[in-house]
Amino acid sequence: MDNTVKYLLGEDRLPTHWYNVIADLPSPPPPPLHPGTHEPVGPEALAPLFPMALIEQEVTSQRYVPIPEAVRDVYRLWRPSPLYRARRLEKALGTPAHIYYKYEGVSPAGSHKPNTAVPQAYYNAAEGVTKLTTETGAGQWGSALAFACSLFGLECEIWQVRASYDQKPYRRMMMETFGATVHPSPSDLTDSGRAILASHPDSPGSLGIAISEAVEMAAADPAARYALGSVLNHVLLHQTIIGQEAVAQMEMAGEAPDVIIGCTGGGSNFGGLAFPFLAEKLAGRMDPVIRAVEPASCPSLTKGRYAYDFGDTAGLTPLLKMHTLGHDFIPDPIHAGGLRYHGMSPLISHVYELGMIEAVAKAQSECFAAGVRFARSEGIVPAPEPTHALAETIAEAQRCTDSGEAKVILTALCGHGQLDLPSYGRYLAGDLVDHELSEEAVAAAMENLPVAG
Ligand SMILES: *Cc1c(COP(=O)(O)O)cnc(C)c1O
Repeated sequence: MDNTVKYLLGEDRLPTHWYNVIADLPSPPPPPLHPGTHEPVGPEALAPLFPMALIEQEVTSQRYVPIPEAVRDVYRLWRPSPLYRARRLEKALGTPAHIYYKYEGVSPAGSHKPNTAVPQAYYNAAEGVTKLTTETGAGQWGSALAFACSLFGLECEIWQVRASYDQKPYRRMMMETFGATVHPSPSDLTDSGRAILASHPDSPGSLGIAISEAVEMAAADPAARYALGSVLNHVLLHQTIIGQEAVAQMEMAGEAPDVIIGCTGGGSNFGGLAFPFLAEKLAGRMDPVIRAVEPASCPSLTKGRYAYDFGDTAGLTPLLKMHTLGHDFIPDPIHAGGLRYHGMSPLISHVYELGMIEAVAKAQSECFAAGVRFARSEGIVPAPEPTHALAETIAEAQRCTDSGEAKVILTALCGHGQLDLPSYGRYLAGDLVDHELSEEAVAAAMENLPVAG
């Protein structure tokens, strides 16, 4: 009997290219617009924030983009990452479903984020940039960029969302260990931060505010650029290394997924796993349902409007066409900090509008219950973000139990939760409250959408 648990690829199977799904879509996603003129922004408008190589990757329609050897060399520290068959979870659930998870918690930061942090640091260093600024929500992205900057000799300055800064001192220490400087956001170091503090001195912060602060600082310093850990096309491009490996690993397992499930904050781990399978689907080689899972308290795909909006709270970024709750929406300080973003990646939003993916929203108590259940059978404590994907995976497996179908479910376990244990502590103590987001709150949040496009 085959009782394989881990499907492992050798380093010789490390992908040589990233996969660009735009090449295979019937239409490209709508372009970013200049906030003043509402015309598509040219490369020169993005140049103060990003190096040319990344701006080119942002707009390319080339199907495969080569991964530089220096980046593949760093990837070898933890890639290819393992694909697991969750045999113990299947048994615990008594389900006929086959559950697989692609595990990104083996990276130095403990999540998928280094997959893009490393190339971003590499391209910036190659173009002579000496410092990167960024935001971090859960602390995963900040840790990943701090790690990548340490490898390529860049300074790294990070604005960590206040709620996370207070809840996760160990994330800050990790970023500092890699050599980064960390500020709580909103901070009094930027105009955007000071404006928020003046009206909301106790603001828990948000990814949108922290992005404003990091963008403002990078734009003011000619030697500095800004790095974003999700949302943009080039970030999703880098993350497709996950799905390309998983396609090969599912082949090793001799199965094709019927359902692919991932959590979505800005959409990068989900797109990274799903897009290479979408390519297989479009080529007629398999036919998986692809499903995004977002938090009920920040439901950009399921409740947001598909409209042009700012990527940040202060309105400093170009306008992006995306599912958004409004750039000044400040989500509840839920524990899945990585999912507290008002918008969804334009590429994921576009693919959703094309009807190629589905989306559901989950309350955090169901998600933590799934995380605990997973930990008690598979032995990995998941980060709070992928517990959303696990909650839907378990629900799908239970539907299989009811229907008797032996579906093949593939999910993204995009990070471990070893630095998120205080949130598990609160869940186990019965202290986590689910706040249902009212229709009025959603409508009010979307009143300030910039009219465009
Ligand atoms: C950042 C992060 C997320 C959310 O970002 P995506 O771009 O949607 O992947 C989810 N999970 C983990 C572990 C993260 O670090």
